[in-house]
Amino acid sequence: MDNPLHSALAEQISVLTGTSTITAPLQPIGGGCINHAYRLGDWFIKCNDPDLLDMFATETLALNEINQYQQVRAPQPLWHGLAAGHACLIMEYIPLQPLKGKAEEQLGQQLAALHQHKQAYFGWHCDNSLGSTLQPNQADNDWINFFINQRLEYQLRLAAEQGYGGRLQQLGERLLSALPKILAGHTPHPALLHGDLWSGNAAMTSDGQPVIFDPACYYGDREADIAMTELFGGFSRRFYQAYHEAYPLDDGAPIRFTVYNIYHVLNHLNLFGESYSQQAQNLMDSLLSRLR
Ligand code: ADP
Repeated sequence: MDNPLHSALAEQISVLTGTSTITAPLQPIGGGCINHAYRLGDWFIKCNDPDLLDMFATETLALNEINQYQQVRAPQPLWHGLAAGHACLIMEYIPLQPLKGKAEEQLGQQLAALHQHKQAYFGWHCDNSLGSTLQPNQADNDWINFFINQRLEYQLRLAAEQGYGGRLQQLGERLLSALPKILAGHTPHPALLHGDLWSGNAAMTSDGQPVIFDPACYYGDREADIAMTELFGGFSRRFYQAYHEAYPLDDGAPIRFTVYNIYHVLNHLNLFGESYSQQAQNLMDSLLSRLR
């Protein structure tokens, strides 16, 4: 093995699993947005710069948080740490295919079951990452406060620091003031969320079992997860029907979906740049125009 990353990972896995060193090749895997991903035998590995190790520590915690309830399958993490100078996360390799048919319905039911798991406050026991953006999760008993301070206002501030000012920030300020009115009367409980559930983070095994991966868990309004499934591609009707039958959404959900998705679009603006600015502005415009 000429590649130091390949040998370091193979050695690490051998030590952790008590098996002989894997001789399989280190195969690059596409499809991710943030990290370099590889398959090494029965293992799936994500790598990034060493200063991003915390991102993998909290992804490990999030995978464990989802897996402890055994409602929906997520990969089992094995280890995170530095290997050959890279921050790495090793987890089980699951052969994945696009989600379709009955598995979409099952995922709707399983997500509804996951969302039944509650804790006493909004947030999580630690901050984590959404993509590579820090996601604050300080405990708050009030959802509207939490969403304003730790989600929208926070992303708007990051955007301002990156030079996205002008109309985006003006709309942002108006939206922040309007949010107590838009969300008035909505009293969700703090439900366990995947936190980054777009269609690229769900798939199925060859025998049709749904799998979710790349989570950014926290406890929040379950509608925030459903909202995100509608961004960037969306899921099928079977998914939404099954979810709704298992755990009906409250009235007025579509307006809140727009609110919640602004958070993700702003995060995309902060991660991937200018092209998301107009989308964020259009979403804010559409909400504010309803209040006029
Ligand atoms: P990123 O953090 O860079 O967004 P992802 O976690 O989304 O990376 O993973 C990249 C791709 O690798 C996914 O689109 C998926 O197809 C595949 N993948 C993710 N987790 C696994 C796994 N445990 N086993 C096999 N393939 C996986």
